Amino acid sequence: MGGGVHPRFDGTSSRRLLARLRDIMAGSGSGQDRLDKIVTLIAAEMKADVCSCYVMRAGEVLELFSTEGLNKTAVHNTRLRVGEGIVGYIAGHARPVALDNAPSHPSFAYRPETGEDPFQSLAGVPILRGSKVRGVLVIQHKDRRRYVEEEVETLQTIAMVVAELVAQSELVNPVEVTTTGDPVLAPARLSGTAMSAGLAMGLAVIHRPQLTVRQMVAEDADAELERFNTALQTMHSAIDDLLEAASLAGLSEPRDILETYRMFAEDRGWLSRIREAIRVGLTAEAAVQQVQNDTRARMSHLTDPYIRERLMDFEDLTNRLLQHLAGKTGTTDGATLPDDMILVARSMGPAELLDYDRTRLRGLLLEEGSPASHVCIVARALNIPVVQAADALNRIEPLDQLIVDGDHGSVFIRPAEDIQMAFGEAVALQHRKEQMYAEIRNLPSVTRDGVPISIQLNCGLLIDLPHLTASGAEGVGLYRTEIPFMVRASYPDVTAQTTLYSRIMDEVGHKPIVFRTLDVGGDKMLPYMTGGEEENPALGWRAVRIGLDHPSLLRQQLRALLLAAAGRPLSVMFPMIAEVAEFDGARRLLELELKRLAAQGIEAPSSLRVGTMLEVPSLLWQLPALLPKLDFLSVGSNDLTQYLFAADRGNPRTSTRYDPLSPSMLCVLRRLVDECSRHKVSLSICGEMAGRPLDAMALIGVGFRTLSMSPPSVGPVKTMLRSLDVAALRQYMSGLYTGADHSLRDKLKTFGKDHGVIF
Ligand code: PEP
Ligand code: MG
Repeated sequence: MGGGVHPRFDGTSSRRLLARLRDIMAGSGSGQDRLDKIVTLIAAEMKADVCSCYVMRAGEVLELFSTEGLNKTAVHNTRLRVGEGIVGYIAGHARPVALDNAPSHPSFAYRPETGEDPFQSLAGVPILRGSKVRGVLVIQHKDRRRYVEEEVETLQTIAMVVAELVAQSELVNPVEVTTTGDPVLAPARLSGTAMSAGLAMGLAVIHRPQLTVRQMVAEDADAELERFNTALQTMHSAIDDLLEAASLAGLSEPRDILETYRMFAEDRGWLSRIREAIRVGLTAEAAVQQVQNDTRARMSHLTDPYIRERLMDFEDLTNRLLQHLAGKTGTTDGATLPDDMILVARSMGPAELLDYDRTRLRGLLLEEGSPASHVCIVARALNIPVVQAADALNRIEPLDQLIVDGDHGSVFIRPAEDIQMAFGEAVALQHRKEQMYAEIRNLPSVTRDGVPISIQLNCGLLIDLPHLTASGAEGVGLYRTEIPFMVRASYPDVTAQTTLYSRIMDEVGHKPIVFRTLDVGGDKMLPYMTGGEEENPALGWRAVRIGLDHPSLLRQQLRALLLAAAGRPLSVMFPMIAEVAEFDGARRLLELELKRLAAQGIEAPSSLRVGTMLEVPSLLWQLPALLPKLDFLSVGSNDLTQYLFAADRGNPRTSTRYDPLSPSMLCVLRRLVDECSRHKVSLSICGEMAGRPLDAMALIGVGFRTLSMSPPSVGPVKTMLRSLDVAALRQYMSGLYTGADHSLRDKLKTFGKDHGVIF
């Protein structure tokens, strides 16, 4: 690569530049004057042939506002759309770019009026304010040269100052900046992703964590470091207070998350980069902000959900630190918030959500986030509907009326009266149904013709367990142990696992519970587990396969389960077993742990039941060899469906293409029922279909007598089964198994309607 010898741009150069920048900002002159001075200063100090500043105008157009080195006549004339040219590329991606051969970049766009063709190298950074791109700052050099990190970082720091200048001196009419092209008061609907179920109506509260950093350069680095350390201390104690409050409120899961979160706050790399930036001459606020801009820019192209969620945690911490530096406590001012509020945020950390008064918080709307993000896990635990929808902040004004539909992933902005009425009716209907479910909670779970059906729960968080009493379910048919593993920053050791399992067993009391061993991999990667990228994660290294390859992991989990159970019954289930040999391998590890326990004289569980999930079709052909070894078997229909039909359960294009209520799936399930009853092995089903009333009806018709489902499904399924005549259904279904239907859903629905089944 080309490039001659250049005087090094280093920390000293950066400090000098920032000091001069401070003088410009402190001096007089219009916004345009100061902007002109800034680009001249940058060009001189960075020995650049060109420095230009583009500012975002209405309609996503970047206008050249000031330049040193390009034709001055191009100022206010050259305009680029976002995405057009390298400048448009920087704005579109909101991240810095440093190129030693700009004309070869695929986005390079030649604008003759600027006279820029002789320039080979380009470094540019977005001008960001809050979450929005307000412009682009670039330097160019005639020759080919590689830019050093300090140059890009310095440009980023200056871009922060320019962002303030753009905002404060109103270089652009502020109306332009907020104009969205929509008539402001018209009702609108956003389509997004459902992240936490439920319906909520309230007034928009825009979560504005971003504090404006005004003072960029500090005189006294030591004093700044001192201020930073104090703010860090107060932030730590504030997080500790939150931990304490979450624990007092009995919220164990948010507490787990907050603890992880506190560990991030102590992240050495993050802290040392901030301290370094302060030593270079920035104020504590500017250093915190710059490290965040830098982290965001570095990570913005990464799509890995875990990394994106960590980024949000860091954003949350940044905002907290800025609040503490500004002397604000970080708690939200309850007096000015509406009683029914819907929080709207670009992204949010779990601690920020808990800052708001839970008695007023009705719903949450996020621009970024996934259902597995920490804030969503907490929101679900608190029963707060959440929808993720892009562009929310651009479309919503503070105190706009909003309806968040967390069941369908929609948001209604300033809903018209008919929508508000429909919402009111939906909520009233939901209440009526909940009342009805509460009324049947203590009635027996038997069909109309007297067949008992055991309803069990699927759980994965401690906070799910109170539902066991509230729903009247008989026990926990599936405890997904991986969820606590997923929200931690490192693998929990045996002691931590033992404490957790023991608490779960305490909560469950005398009701039965089935612990499924770690089912990670596939779409549930652990942040701290390295297995490399896989082409087909669903067919890859997951669940028991990982446990068998790393026996110490599985053994630790089994040890913790045995220790927690001491003197109590224990049921363990292995996921994703594809052949008898895998079951034998997993069972052997359990035996080793039992021996270890005995050798140490530790009390064993009062009884031990060992089972497997049936999720992989190959196992269906080993049932005669497998079943005699099992105490129970549970069908994981989510995975079984995906493997039976070779249709990725996480891919919206294929996940609904095949119906579990198809003759092939029902034939498989019927065969299982027959084989298990012949071998006297208890059989249950814990995939999502068990919790859908119509599917559950079909399962009962096939012969299942134990259904495990998520807590909200208990009421609807119990209502259905209490109105069902199983004998009539079996008779009806006997003629359906051999047909060529794609799905039997419609036929089963018609049967239900004709026979008075309540769905
Ligand atoms: C299933 O596959 O049906 C199941 C219950 O397991 P999970 O959804 O956790 O993969
Ligand atoms: Mg599964």
